Amino acid sequence: LRVLGIEGTAWAASAAVFETSDPTRRTDDERVEIYTDAYEPDSGGIHPREAAEHMHEAIPEVVAQARETAREWAGEYDGRDRQPIDAVAFSRGPGLGPCLRIVATAARATAQRFDVPLVGVNHMVAHLEIGRHRSGFDSPVCLNASGANAHVLGYRNGRYRVLGETMDTGVGNAIDKFTRHLGWSHPGGPKVEERAKDGEFVDLPYVVKGMDFSFSGIMSAAKQAVDNGEAVEDVCFGLQEHVFAMLTEVSERALSLTGSGQLVLGGGVAQNDRLREMLESMCEQRGADFYAPEARFLRDNAGMIAVLGAKMFEADDTLPIEESRIDSNFRPDQVPVTWREDEDW
Ligand code: ATP
Repeated sequence: LRVLGIEGTAWAASAAVFETSDPTRRTDDERVEIYTDAYEPDSGGIHPREAAEHMHEAIPEVVAQARETAREWAGEYDGRDRQPIDAVAFSRGPGLGPCLRIVATAARATAQRFDVPLVGVNHMVAHLEIGRHRSGFDSPVCLNASGANAHVLGYRNGRYRVLGETMDTGVGNAIDKFTRHLGWSHPGGPKVEERAKDGEFVDLPYVVKGMDFSFSGIMSAAKQAVDNGEAVEDVCFGLQEHVFAMLTEVSERALSLTGSGQLVLGGGVAQNDRLREMLESMCEQRGADFYAPEARFLRDNAGMIAVLGAKMFEADDTLPIEESRIDSNFRPDQVPVTWREDEDW
């Protein structure tokens, strides 16, 4: 089975090919090739119109690369240029509407070109499923720490439930807003991680309410601290310690609530070593298993779209073209989980 995936919710114009003998689990013979062209703003954060212009230019190119790879792989089996793909999967949302529309158009055109089914994937569920797929865990809790989102998900009665989430901005966007204040280029997360290595603890607001967290107060306080003359390194260190402790606290509570002994991590912020270290140590203390996919599957990428697309295709969860409109506010709990047959927690 070979699925071509297309991703483009915000900054990553990405296409991928996923080939497997069994999409329901990770196999030794599976392979994933990802082609990504990143939008890098000249200044400030992600501008929706510029991001869409980037998608417009970059999507045809990355899709062509993925198609070429699919053709090569298909040729390896019978030496002929036979049908290279079985389905086309694309991210339907959540994300920036103008970007999503370009991706959906490319996906429909590619599916029609090869006369194969179309699969509409929820981007946040894909962040979760790639961790479940690669780890081999059966029913993990998932912390999605991405740019525009932050939430903790668990499976129950055929849906991924949002157990906890941000009450305001996404975690990565909050960090990026702080670094924009310092005049640093986008994305800010890796720069904060680097500078925090030389920093010492400063006190900042820590806001967890029940299962939810808030990042706007801490961002304002961090900007204020720098303006008041605190060393940037110390504020970066303090910021990471607070924000990641908030995410870790809610993840731990979700493990306790669900009784799950497995945690997977997803999203671009999950590339941060300190976040992974905190989660790993929390899991170790409670005897839970922890898994973070490799970096290429954490940040936005079409590989995760193709992998979940293959599972959905296998479950006959495909979309007629006329029903394939995008949904920029597509929540993970709106998705009927057709590809899992396991019991609830
Ligand atoms: P979403 O998946 O919610 O649509 P997104 O499209 O913004 O989010 P992601 O690739 O998941 O994209 O995440 C990008 C975010 O990850 C940016 O905010 C960036 O600053 C942050 N990030 C990247 N690397 C690191 C790091 N090492 N530490 C902290 N944050 C990081």
